[in-house]
Amino acid sequence: MSRPCIITVAITGAVPKKEDNPAVPVTPSEQVESTHEAYEAGASLVHIHVRNEDQSPGSDPEKFRQVQEGVRKYCPGMIVQFSTGGRGRSLAERGAMLSLRPDMASLATGSVNFPTSIYENPPSFIDELASEMLKFDVKPEVEIFDVAMLYNAVSLVKRGLLAAPAHVQFVMGIPNALPARRQLLDFLISELEELLPGATWTAAGVGRHQFIVNQWCLELGGHCRTGLEDNIKFDRYRLAQSNAELVQKIVDIAGRHHRYPAAPDQARKILKLRNAA
Ligand code: MG
Repeated sequence: MSRPCIITVAITGAVPKKEDNPAVPVTPSEQVESTHEAYEAGASLVHIHVRNEDQSPGSDPEKFRQVQEGVRKYCPGMIVQFSTGGRGRSLAERGAMLSLRPDMASLATGSVNFPTSIYENPPSFIDELASEMLKFDVKPEVEIFDVAMLYNAVSLVKRGLLAAPAHVQFVMGIPNALPARRQLLDFLISELEELLPGATWTAAGVGRHQFIVNQWCLELGGHCRTGLEDNIKFDRYRLAQSNAELVQKIVDIAGRHHRYPAAPDQARKILKLRNAA
């Protein structure tokens, strides 16, 4: 029997620049267009960062609003997920757009080293961000960058700051954080199933690990994430032409693993989200 797979497209991220790959969308209109192409290819969830004029990571709630409005208009039912990630943004800025009530937002449940910086998420900040998400009925995607973060998520559920069933993402392949190892993913999934029964999960492979992690997720019953945020290349030899091309790459092999791309309304049911706005 074939099972649905929610494909997340992380269209922009904080790091890739137009100079690295001209397909990286940075203005709200480019972002909506790129999301629409990915939606047509089979993505049902979009993960959104906004950028400042100089392409640095942005926090402007107006830009988040514009992207959300465009996605709702041109990609009916698609799940909108805002990033609350760091990269030079202050703690206060990182949650400033939650009042726009996207369907979901990312929530990293601990601090970790990135290649050249510390991704800081102090305990009090995590609790605050989780409370804000509860207040605005925004479902967190718990971002697991290191093993302890899984147990911190369990603690949030126990303390009533994270509603069950949780949705988590294992992020693999960032230097200094979790490596992209199949045995590690197997372990994380077994811990998740034991400690947070009923939780849904996905995994992101960063850089050259993107597609192998997609294949592990298809095989193991998880959901998938792709996009230029994590990887600007289609393969070792050429740049990806678009976010849609990376989505298509998953769609093309899903059947081999008895999976098919979830439609947006189906994805909303799987994640127990409210109906589309
Ligand atoms: Mg992100």
